[in-house]
Amino acid sequence: MDAGAVTFPRRTTRQIFVGKVPVGGGSPVTVQSMTTTKTADVEGTLQQIYALAAAGCDIVRCTCNELEAAEGLAHIVPRSPIPVIADIHHQYRMALAALDAGVHGLRLNPGNIRKPEHIKAVASEAKDRNVPIRIGVNGGSLDPELYDKYGGRVTPEAMVESALSEIAYFDEVGFDLVKISVKASNVPLMVEAYRQLADATDYPLHLGVTEAGPLPEGIVKATAGIGALLAEGIGDTIRYSLTADPVEEARAGKVLLESLGLRERTGVDLIACPSCGRAEVDVIAVANAARDAFADREIPLQIAVMGCVVNGPGEARDADLGIAAGRHRGHLFVKGMNVAVVPEDEMVETLVEWAEFISEHGAEAALARVDTEKAAREAEKDRLALLDEQGADANASEQRVELLNQRFD
Ligand code: SF4
Repeated sequence: MDAGAVTFPRRTTRQIFVGKVPVGGGSPVTVQSMTTTKTADVEGTLQQIYALAAAGCDIVRCTCNELEAAEGLAHIVPRSPIPVIADIHHQYRMALAALDAGVHGLRLNPGNIRKPEHIKAVASEAKDRNVPIRIGVNGGSLDPELYDKYGGRVTPEAMVESALSEIAYFDEVGFDLVKISVKASNVPLMVEAYRQLADATDYPLHLGVTEAGPLPEGIVKATAGIGALLAEGIGDTIRYSLTADPVEEARAGKVLLESLGLRERTGVDLIACPSCGRAEVDVIAVANAARDAFADREIPLQIAVMGCVVNGPGEARDADLGIAAGRHRGHLFVKGMNVAVVPEDEMVETLVEWAEFISEHGAEAALARVDTEKAAREAEKDRLALLDEQGADANASEQRVELLNQRFD
C-alpha cells in the first residue's frame, strides 16, 4: 500500500471561525499556543506572537486577567498576524472587557465562572459580536459540585457534564459559536473524556494534555494523548501545554500534524538511522547539523541521513535525497540512486545544495546532471570494502550467540 495514501477519517463537526481561521467542519486541524508575557506588555507580547506564527502557530491565546491586560489586547489584536483569543478565569467582566478590546475568541473555564447570569451575559455579548467561545474544561479546576457528585474524583463523565452544562446556558441565549476542550494532565483520562464528548456533541474540539511539563517528557505525554485522538479522527485544533518556550509548543504541534498527514509539509522531513556498530560517522552529530541547516528553509522534501553505505541507501530509498556515510566520505543519493561521493566534512552543505536544486528543478533534473553509473561504481567499492572489513554482522551478534551457546553446552 502507498503510505502516502493512508489518511485518518475525520469526525464531522460544525464549523466556527476564529478571526479568519476556520475550526472544524472539515477544515485543516490548526495549532494553537499561548503567550507567556504579561499581556499589558504590548511589544513583548507581539514579539512572541510573531515568533509563534513563524513556528507554525495558527491561533494564539493571551491571558486577560486584569484591566491592563484587556487594554493591552486592544493594541495587540489589530497588529497580530494570527487571531487572538483571550483566556478568562474567575472574572466574567474580563471576558466583556476582552470583547470590547476586539479579540477574535474567548476561552472560559466553566470550573471557575459558575454563576449562570455571568455565563449568559458573556455568551450574549459574544453572540452580538459574532465571536466564538471555547468552553475550556480542565480536570484540575473542575466545578466543585461536579467533583463531589462523581465521588470526589475527576472522571471523564464529570468533565463532559461540565461542558454540556455550559452549552445549556449558551443555548438559553441562542449562542452556538462554540468549541470545547476537556483537558487533563492524565492521558488516559483526557483521551476517554474527549471520546465521550465526541459522542455527545458535534461541536469542534480543541485537544490538549494540560500541564504536560518540561521537555522532552512533556512532548511525549502530550503527543500520546493528542496523537491517539487525532488518529481516531477526533480533534479540530490542538495545543501542546509545555513548560518551555511557547515556540516549542507551536513547533511540536506543527510536527505532529505533519507526521499524521493532517497538515501540508512546508519544511524538510528529516529521517535518520539510529546508528549502530556499522556507522562510519557520528550519525547523531550529522543529523543534528542537517536539522539545523534546514531549520529555516521551506523545502518540502524527505531527506535521509544514514550511518553506513551497506544498508543506508536501501533503507532510505523512498527519500527524495539522502546521504550515507562511507569510509569517511558521504555517498549522496537521489531517489535511491547514487549521484556523488563527497568528503565527510562537506556532507551537510552538499545535502543543502542538492535539496535546493531538487526543490527548484525536480529529482529528474538532479539525476540528469550527473553520471549516476560512475557514482554507483564508487559507492559499490566502498560498500564492498566495508563488508569485507566488518563482515555482514557488524554488530557481532553471531559471535555473541555462539558465546552464549557455549555456556549452555
Ligand atoms: Fe545506520 Fe547502517 Fe546501522 Fe542501519 S546498518 S542503523 S543505516 S549505520
